[in-house]
Amino acid sequence: MSETATSENNGSAPAARSQGKRVFIKSFGCQMNVYDSQRMADLAALEGYGEAEGVDDADVIVLNTCHIRERASEKIYSELGKLRELKDMRRETGRRTVLVVAGCLAQAEGGEILRRQPAVDVVVGPQSYHRLPELLRKAEVRSGVIDTDFPVEDKFSHLPASRPDSIAKRGVAAFVTVQEGCDKFCSFCIVPYTRGSEASRPVSAVLEEIKRLTAAGVCEVMLIGQNVNAYHGLDQAGRVTTLAGLIASAAAVPGVRRLRYATSHPDDMSADLIAAHREVETLAPFLHLPVQSGSDRILASMNRRHSVADYLDIVARTRATRPDIAFSSDFIVGYPGETEADFEETLSLARAVGYASSFAFKFSARPGTPAFGMDGQLDESVKAKRLARLQLLLEEQRQAFNRACVGRRVEVLFEKPGRRPGQVVGRSPYMQAVHAEGPLSLVGVMTEVEIIGVGSNSLRGRVVSPPS
Ligand code: SAM
Ligand code: SF4
Repeated sequence: MSETATSENNGSAPAARSQGKRVFIKSFGCQMNVYDSQRMADLAALEGYGEAEGVDDADVIVLNTCHIRERASEKIYSELGKLRELKDMRRETGRRTVLVVAGCLAQAEGGEILRRQPAVDVVVGPQSYHRLPELLRKAEVRSGVIDTDFPVEDKFSHLPASRPDSIAKRGVAAFVTVQEGCDKFCSFCIVPYTRGSEASRPVSAVLEEIKRLTAAGVCEVMLIGQNVNAYHGLDQAGRVTTLAGLIASAAAVPGVRRLRYATSHPDDMSADLIAAHREVETLAPFLHLPVQSGSDRILASMNRRHSVADYLDIVARTRATRPDIAFSSDFIVGYPGETEADFEETLSLARAVGYASSFAFKFSARPGTPAFGMDGQLDESVKAKRLARLQLLLEEQRQAFNRACVGRRVEVLFEKPGRRPGQVVGRSPYMQAVHAEGPLSLVGVMTEVEIIGVGSNSLRGRVVSPPS
């Protein structure tokens, strides 16, 4: 639904109109939202908005929302309640605040958001946020502007290039969205309805963006998409390129020291992508491969398109290709009809794989998805017990993996100063936080580190040969 006209320029230059105003963008949910928030910040900067430190110094507050589970959505409404109080208080002193709800909740609930929280000025979906400046201009003259279209124009080609200073603020590791939307329609998932059908960015657009990032000091790039290994972007000759092809091209961009990709679906784990883990030296030996359940019966009901055996086969083939690879996953417990025996099979699968880290969630019935009205909905108490049992196992596996790293030498990309002076913090290929003694000049450097200890949430390391 769109209530936007094509243009409504009132004559003043955008930068002049928003002079002195600041925007604060708060991101909820997944990496795709983090990336979208950065691109919205680029748009706002072009429009003349400064970046606010937080809500207090912001004239425009954008909540870039998540709708994946009920709790995520409720959190947003409670945050909006507090922002309404702030807006009312400021109005008494003559200061205006514009509230924007962007992201998947905006897409899913649209006008309902305005009904539940009339203080909201703009509602904009994830496929139309490139029109944010136009929507903010409209919000100057009226409230309740909605744009949840899936426009035919390519959002990415309407976004301004990120400026080197804004890239530098984000650090040395960056996300690049290469694929959006999903055609898989897992029975529990809202994504195909909020993000639309699957689309891939052209290879050249992705490479151009990576070049801009590395020129501004980024060394690690994570190629992201709701279903990133379904990537099928066109190259300049009009040929379809797979994610493996894109990874090979991205690895050739000067300055790229490490590549990652997420999130992958088992059904799209092609042979060339598995081979890329051997062939591309800069590709991190880490694979986030959500399985959701260890029961074939539940996987079929979830419309996952893979069996437990298919999944274990992918894990085995990837390990044979790249022996030092580690895996992480997403699990859903308490899906409708899940028996104790099905849940035991999920525990068995986790034991069979041995994950480095994982996420586990209680099934949340999302209106509009096939699983919402399914028979066999389980009690919250059953879900909670199963979640606790699975999380305990996954946590034991995480700690065991961390302990097994002690004595190993791994490449760490240092990202920022540590809490203590003389300490820097970075990430291992396995996404673990690693603390080491060293000068601040190590920030932005990827170097070999020997792991010498394990904390509850991070590792301690010693830089093997500090760069001169
Ligand atoms: N595309 C990825 C895949 O195929 O696994 C996952 C993307 S989804 C945004 C992230 C995770 O949220 C899923 O892997 C799933 O575990 C979880 N999730 C999605 N819908 C859910 C629901 N209704 N209840 C609980 N967890 C859910
Ligand atoms: Fe959702 Fe992932 Fe399934 Fe797509 S593949 S419907 S994003 S869980």
